[in-house]
Amino acid sequence: MNTIDTHYDVVIVGAGVGGGAMANRLSATGARVLMIERGNYLPREADNWSVKAVFHDRKYTANETWRDKDGKPFHPSTFYYVGGNSKFFGAATVRFRVEDFEDLQHEGGVAPAWPVRYADFAPYYDEAERLMGTHGTAGADPIEPPRSGPMPYPTIGHEPEIEAIAEKLRAKGLRPFPLPIAIDRHKGGACIRCSTCDGFACKLGAKNDAEVRLVAPALASGRVDLVLDTKVRRMLTDASGKRVTGIEVEQDGQVKVISGDLFISSAGAINSTALLLRSANDKHRRGLGNNTSDQLGRNYMAHNNTAMMAIHPFRKNRVTFQKSMAINDFYLANAHRPWPMGNVQGLGKLQGGMLTANVKWLPEWLMDRFAERSVDWWIMSEDLPDPNNRVTLDSDGTIRVAYTPNNLTSHNELVRHWTRIMRSIGYPIIITQRMDITVSMHQCGTARFGNDPATSVLDPTCKVWDVDNLYVVDASFLPSSTGFNPSLTIVAQAVRTAEHITSNVFKASTAA
Ligand SMILES: Cc1cc2nc3c(=O)[nH]c(=O)nc-3n(C[C@H](O)[C@H](O)[C@H](O)COP(=O)(O)OP(=O)(O)OC[C@H]3O[C@@H](n4cnc5c(N)ncnc54)[C@H](O)[C@@H]3O)c2cc1C
Ligand code: SF4
Repeated sequence: MNTIDTHYDVVIVGAGVGGGAMANRLSATGARVLMIERGNYLPREADNWSVKAVFHDRKYTANETWRDKDGKPFHPSTFYYVGGNSKFFGAATVRFRVEDFEDLQHEGGVAPAWPVRYADFAPYYDEAERLMGTHGTAGADPIEPPRSGPMPYPTIGHEPEIEAIAEKLRAKGLRPFPLPIAIDRHKGGACIRCSTCDGFACKLGAKNDAEVRLVAPALASGRVDLVLDTKVRRMLTDASGKRVTGIEVEQDGQVKVISGDLFISSAGAINSTALLLRSANDKHRRGLGNNTSDQLGRNYMAHNNTAMMAIHPFRKNRVTFQKSMAINDFYLANAHRPWPMGNVQGLGKLQGGMLTANVKWLPEWLMDRFAERSVDWWIMSEDLPDPNNRVTLDSDGTIRVAYTPNNLTSHNELVRHWTRIMRSIGYPIIITQRMDITVSMHQCGTARFGNDPATSVLDPTCKVWDVDNLYVVDASFLPSSTGFNPSLTIVAQAVRTAEHITSNVFKASTAA
């Protein structure tokens, strides 16, 4: 449907992981919920799995230009569809660690404590894993935080090439484990275990992304409406500035206003910031919810990420689904290393064309040869919140992402260390590429939650401190990026916020 009624109990901006999970949970409450999505459904078609379409033609990437800290324009790798960025995600659905919720000392500084401890958050992870349909083996990750039971589905297992590497790593004293993955790969599931998953959309609908697992069931409840191709321009408040009364949207070339009782911004860490900044008014001159802290848009994080190809010159790697294994032996400081270094996980199998898409002068035949013989890794380390790493709007309305990477020493050390390990198990040729600002896939932190309105944008329930009926539920809320993929934690927080809204906000308004 693409018509908009005048009034909803809850209006959610964005149908990605955060927005989808909110709609999913609130659909059971009897509230009338509207989701507004600037994109449409991503078609399921052959091009979903085409390297040319996805990486060279950027057929599905948002047609956006942002600017970096120097004002240089760039095209971000971001996706505007029902399901948001998760349509293209690698489906790693990993819990953050007990230590991630506390002050955690890094080489480059301290990752700050969260306003909630892991023990209080864990039940929401249980529910998030169930919602996302995670496959994995409880207890296999050597630094796994406490959990109440098994994962919803058993591990998808390693293919022989990856199992052989796991054996070699174990022989070196490492403890590789099955990466928790959200794909429909179990008895009766639709996944065929192909090689075009991480970075591609699933043409079978077998990836457990936000559209499939969160939005579709929400719509099936009959209590949730979804409008498509509708961009939210700004939020409007009452004269006091304490309540959002409506939102202004652009639909079919027309500007319309939708009213509601409760509003949730789930447009993603960068776009939620842009939306709240565009909503500045007399009572919120620095952007909605930014009066007390001036933290909106600050503390932007996106991880220190490096892709690595470890190449065996003579042996082909015939794996299809490579993203089945992870290594957490370097995640926390230990007797040998004073600082956390990060997580290593399998990357979706690289193909030559994926490499030449970014570096045009590379000969594709050579990259094909390398890719046929490589084992590919994603090396991910925490970046730290820095108020100067910041999302703002330029005077022409263009998004600016001013970002200077930090905490790099330990990331570089991890890359060097993993290089040594790969060489020692028979992969002499190593090619690495650090991800740059265009890779905003793990964007987070721009509206962090906290206990103190002077230093955070959101309270511990993700309500904007300065505004009574506005929540931000997407990757914005993360006070630290941790060294793990963010989506499961966004879902868990959405479940937590939805529970708060249901048991406190709705009950209070019913009583009133
Ligand atoms: C290639 C790739 C691989 C990844 N792999 C993993 C992985 O393996 N594991 C993992 O945990 N994470 C992974 N991620 C990251 C993960 O997908 C994101 O962290 C997550 O999807 C973020 O969810 P979100 O709700 O914060 O925002 P988004 O997914 O960005 O959703 C925001 C939604 O809001 C819409 N929107 C934006 N602005 C407006 C507006 N003004 N009006 C209306 N609608 C608007 C957007 O179209 C979008 O649908 C990956 C991401 C990518 C791109
Ligand atoms: S591996 Fe499975 S879920 Fe992923 S794209 Fe292939 S069929 Fe879809």
